[in-house]
Amino acid sequence: MPPKDSQDETLKWGESPWTIDFKVRRRAFPESVDFAIVGAGFTGLAAAAWLRRLAPEESVAVFEADRIGAGASSRTGGMALAESAAGDLPGLGNVLGGLERILAELDIDCDLSLPGAFEIGRGKALKDSPIQWNDSGTLRVVKKVPGGTLDPGKLVAGLARVADERGATIIESHPVTQIEWQPRPVVHAVAPVVVHAGGSQCSAGKILFATNALALELTALAGRAEPKLTLAVLTEPIGQKRLEAIGLAGGNPFYTVDLPYLWGRCLRDGSVIFGAGLVDADDSRDLTQIDITGGDAKNLFESIERRIHNLHPELREIKITHRWGGPILFRENWRPIFMPHPQSKSAIVLGAYAGHGVALSVYLGAWAAEALLGRRKLPSWGSLSK
Ligand SMILES: Cc1cc2nc3c(=O)[nH]c(=O)nc-3n(C[C@H](O)[C@H](O)[C@H](O)COP(=O)(O)OP(=O)(O)OC[C@H]3O[C@@H](n4cnc5c(N)ncnc54)[C@H](O)[C@@H]3O)c2cc1C
Repeated sequence: MPPKDSQDETLKWGESPWTIDFKVRRRAFPESVDFAIVGAGFTGLAAAAWLRRLAPEESVAVFEADRIGAGASSRTGGMALAESAAGDLPGLGNVLGGLERILAELDIDCDLSLPGAFEIGRGKALKDSPIQWNDSGTLRVVKKVPGGTLDPGKLVAGLARVADERGATIIESHPVTQIEWQPRPVVHAVAPVVVHAGGSQCSAGKILFATNALALELTALAGRAEPKLTLAVLTEPIGQKRLEAIGLAGGNPFYTVDLPYLWGRCLRDGSVIFGAGLVDADDSRDLTQIDITGGDAKNLFESIERRIHNLHPELREIKITHRWGGPILFRENWRPIFMPHPQSKSAIVLGAYAGHGVALSVYLGAWAAEALLGRRKLPSWGSLSK
């Protein structure tokens, strides 16, 4: 009997427009695995699929508190952005090229399209800026950078399908509540970590924490990185003529480089996601208690919607069909966290991509798989001491 799932808590974050069209097979809870992954978002699922691709002889289990994609990965805007929120980092490599390669090798179609992303701002604009919006000044395109969009529901489903088909065990509705750190044994047949998930136990040789803004007490990040709920809305389909008028007919996602912040993208049916606004939380528990229908979130949604209606005359009467929020984690210097867990060299913590995690989570999830197999080092910039 699985434990009570936490879906009822996350539902207070509203509904995103994405559909995850993959049902995880019910499997027996494993007693022991070579690799345990905590969290089934983009990071955890990409790591699981990549581990099984590289080392099919090693056993892998993914423990998920709720459903696959229940955190940020099914709530994201799905803009695929280059580099990291802190820009390029030493040895990071080509994130978008890496994403394309990983998707091709895993045979995942998630509507990835990379026409370039618009950086928009109130400063010096490109001469041919297709965007001219009214939002605390005039917003125009100031730079076109590598990037594009994908369908996050299809990406979660695709990663889970490949991980499952390749033999990783995905266990939903089993929140990991505790890790027993064992001393590394002399005889390596005994596993060094015991994962307690939903009342059952599993021994694991190595572990990847891919819980991002959630379960900060497990990743030892409480007080060392900032969890927040970030908000987004979807408009009704607005039609090709209106998309052309507002400068979004080319399918380029956009984000501001100055404040007030605004980001967004179109969907295939001509609806548009706009995002802005952060609700503060002291810790992960606080984050899961936020109800987007009240408090700060309600005020922020009203403000976003006012801004959207005023951006352009063509948007004045547009209806908003979805409001939702999702968890996001910030590190002080905006670099991702990618480091050994303070308790054990056999455990890796990966996350804190800020609003830049769609391409990066898959790219670094595959990197984490290689690091768990001892085939690649962790980057110097991923550690909190750097
Ligand atoms: C509204 C929103 C819009 C965004 N837009 C963009 C964008 O357009 N472009 C971009 O690049 N980035 C964007 N981001 C960021 C990006 O979506 C995230 O960085 C990325 O999805 C993180 O993936 P993840 O797998 O690391 O974390 P998550 O998807 O949050 O996955 C963590 C998983 O861990 C599970 N979990 C938590 N605690 C436990 C536990 N104790 N035991 C087991 N499982 C547990 C959760 O249920 C969850 O499924 C956005 C984020 C949000 C919220």
